[in-house]
Amino acid sequence: MQLSDIHSLILQRINSGVLIVDADINLVYFNRFMESHSQLKSEDVIGQSLFDTFPDAPEKWLKRKIQSVLMLNSPAFSSWEQRQYVFKMRHARPVTTSSEFMAQDITFIPVCNQQSNEVEQVCIVIDDVTDVFFYQEKLKDTLAKLEQVSRMDGLTQVANRRFWEERFKIEFASAVRHQNPLSLIMFDMDKFKQVNDIYGHQGGDLVLVEATRLVQSMLRKEDLLGRYGGEEFGLILPNTGGKGALELAERIRKAFQVHPIKFKEHVIHATMSVGVCELDNNFKKYEDLVTRADLALYQSKRDGRNRTTLYRK
Ligand code: GH3
Ligand code: MG
Ligand code: MG
Repeated sequence: MQLSDIHSLILQRINSGVLIVDADINLVYFNRFMESHSQLKSEDVIGQSLFDTFPDAPEKWLKRKIQSVLMLNSPAFSSWEQRQYVFKMRHARPVTTSSEFMAQDITFIPVCNQQSNEVEQVCIVIDDVTDVFFYQEKLKDTLAKLEQVSRMDGLTQVANRRFWEERFKIEFASAVRHQNPLSLIMFDMDKFKQVNDIYGHQGGDLVLVEATRLVQSMLRKEDLLGRYGGEEFGLILPNTGGKGALELAERIRKAFQVHPIKFKEHVIHATMSVGVCELDNNFKKYEDLVTRADLALYQSKRDGRNRTTLYRK
């Protein structure tokens, strides 16, 4: 098909890549957009195979695509979401994305011989959608951050109560189904009102941050620490029986009582009381573990604080 002057002018000026290939997939047209983004000159590529011109292009896939357009006389598309790009070219956008290459939406249009009405050529239009790619990436990033934030306690950066309970529900069901051990440790800061009274709320906050950081450093990947209430924390221990949980609780309690917390010109020494409970066949829901670990925790308080109690029937 011959291009009229006006068509040719539009194709040269348009802000999309336009190239035309014949039935042998050799280039017959290459517009200015393509020249400027691929650093290739039209006169050097016309008559050349499309695949020699773009050796990085997915040859098998592209061949199938073009041949189907030639055979079926109907257009075909490729979105950047399927393939970020087909023709590897740098984007010239003032945005930073994880890729330096132009994201492309591509349309393959059959071009018919006006006399015989047979498809002789395929016109390939390449739209630069790097901006869309960029905003999608940003959106995904933001959503991931939001999700992370919605699970976390703002002060201590451990799981918040809602997320912690959701996970506990799942761990409980899984432990019951597979007959696996599961334990819960509950911690509560001792005389925390006094800590606040002496050092102020900021000092108290720092104790909570330091306590959770210390506990986190002593855990396995599958254990989950969560902020259950103001200065009370719960630690879910999948695949751990009462004995192992009690040992860990004692290790944590002892490590914390000798852990100095520097606050302004002070060194704060704080302690915690601990209650431990392991899964029992009679428990129907995860809350049964919480109630009993709490009972054990209050036994520790009654016995004088800074100690650990394992719940027993
Ligand atoms: P006990 O040994 O019996 O647990 O004594 P306690 O003083 O710790 O008793 P209680 O649990 O009644 O008091 C908890 C205090 O913790 C009260 C509350 O002001 C304080 N608290 C709760 N959340 C925070 C917090 O996020 N930051 C600070 N600084 N204090 C908090
Ligand atoms: Mg307390
Ligand atoms: Mg409390």
